[in-house]
Amino acid sequence: MKVKDVFLDVLFPPICLNCQKHIEERNKLICDRCLAGIEINNSLFCPVCRARLWQDKKICNHGQSDGRQYPFVLAAAANYGNETTQNLITYFKYKGFESLAPILSSFVFKYINFINLDLEDYIIVPIPLHKNRERKRGFNQAKLLADNLSERLEIDSIDALRRIKNTKPQACLSGRQAKLKNQKDDNIFNWLESDNSRLKTQHEKRQENIRGAFKIIDGSLIEGKKIILVDDVYTSGATMGEAARVLKENGAKKIIALVVAKA
Ligand SMILES: [Zn+2]
Ligand SMILES: [Zn+2]
Repeated sequence: MKVKDVFLDVLFPPICLNCQKHIEERNKLICDRCLAGIEINNSLFCPVCRARLWQDKKICNHGQSDGRQYPFVLAAAANYGNETTQNLITYFKYKGFESLAPILSSFVFKYINFINLDLEDYIIVPIPLHKNRERKRGFNQAKLLADNLSERLEIDSIDALRRIKNTKPQACLSGRQAKLKNQKDDNIFNWLESDNSRLKTQHEKRQENIRGAFKIIDGSLIEGKKIILVDDVYTSGATMGEAARVLKENGAKKIIALVVAKA
């Protein structure tokens, strides 16, 4: 160990972002034990109900309107329910850890190889942030992932979309679970039913909120192309749905929505 490293170790001991335990190698952000705890998925998913799909065959039939809203298959490397995955994405997105991009994209790369996803003739398009949000954050997390994946997969990443509407961040998902725990109503079935319709309205609100948020920069870049749309997390699917809708309207042939984690 170099003298400089000894000093650095004393001043800033290298600790795992996830478990806060000491790490031997200085240039690592997460320990091997935490890394091993992240489960990589082994299939594609239905963008509506999250059912596992065999290759990219659509086995679900959710009707025409869903097909229009979600004109893609969902490729999600990991699950947001996994605490480590969630921690890493939070550090990446909200705590300025841009340097986590290669680690997160390595999960995606592993996943793509794992499921043997054929990406020949595809181009990568990152979900853009509105310029005000990007300025505030300092970077667009989806673009960092897209650039990293572009290198690993040797596929071009093209900024084909612009975000022209600064939408509010999506509401936290745990609201419903918290309510479930506190619920003391005997008539649980009535309550669940009303909760379902409340969720539906929430989802519709998200869709309305995101409507018209994206614009194509140059139609010729995407016409007739197969596109891998990249984002960090897939929650309601409203963002991906709207971006995919605009791409389809402008002649995109096929779309895969690719994310680090699905909620
Ligand atoms: Zn750890
Ligand atoms: Zn489905």
